[in-house]
Amino acid sequence: MKLEGIHHITAITGDAVANVEFYTGVLGLRMVKQTVNQDDPTVYHLFYGDEDGSPGMDLTFFEYPGAAPGVPGAGMVHRVVWRVGAAEALAFWRDRLQAAGVRSQLADGSLLFADPEGLEHELVVPDVPDEPLAARSPEIPAEHALQGFEGVRAYSSAPARSERLLADTLGFVRAVGSETWEVRGEQRGGFYAYDPAPPEINRRQGAGSVHHVAFASPKGEHETWRLRVAQAGAHPTPVIDRFYFKSVYFREPSGVLFEIATIGPGFAVDEDAEHIGERLSLPPRFEPLREQLLETLTPLPYPPSWRVEQSSPPVAS
Ligand code: ZN
Repeated sequence: MKLEGIHHITAITGDAVANVEFYTGVLGLRMVKQTVNQDDPTVYHLFYGDEDGSPGMDLTFFEYPGAAPGVPGAGMVHRVVWRVGAAEALAFWRDRLQAAGVRSQLADGSLLFADPEGLEHELVVPDVPDEPLAARSPEIPAEHALQGFEGVRAYSSAPARSERLLADTLGFVRAVGSETWEVRGEQRGGFYAYDPAPPEINRRQGAGSVHHVAFASPKGEHETWRLRVAQAGAHPTPVIDRFYFKSVYFREPSGVLFEIATIGPGFAVDEDAEHIGERLSLPPRFEPLREQLLETLTPLPYPPSWRVEQSSPPVAS
């Protein structure tokens, strides 16, 4: 039984409109689900990914309008690392980010930048057999598109505390002499790495903070993962049905909130696959709130006209 790399990464934004403009506009991701936070349905939960909404390429945001900026510290993921296909893509993204007014730093096979709220991103060119997962955008040549997650970097003040859970319970494999752990299954993999925690000055969750990282489990193994985490003393939640996947949450000993999420049923469970993410989707138990939510949620600058126009309208009979 193995976890299939990173399923999704969830962060916080204080400004859904600017968030959509950055991730679908500048980075060229597809919005693969536009829904609400199931633990607080008055706020958005926006999912960005590849064309199919695949696990492995799914960055999501809860919107808390006007949230103060977060400050990453011990027990928090502070950087999302993405794959691109070749070194030429790094130069493409440096130029594209610059044109969008985003500073970046190109060094040693990697490009570092932050989103408008300070969430750090890094693009790298890994040598992996995994299927590249990409979204289409008219502004981004296919060969330069982001291709899914390579990993996340978290801060820990005592990473040794996490060793047993990561290695013995979750099956992560540590690269020799480092604090980088590979989590790899039959189809996909990625890394989870620790950096020394900065001094605790005003560490806090807020806009631009990562809330949790989810690892992918085949559906049939999900309950067993929960049991294994419980037996290791990590206090998992019950299995929670998130409608698009099922989830179990627990905090690993360094303080980072982990989730194990099922691969499927996926985002086309309640929308036509060609039109996922184009309008507000609500799992059935939230559907009675639709009218009320449409009045309070901020209208989003999505979908772009090219996405609407490209798909053929239903044939009139
Ligand atoms: Zn999650």
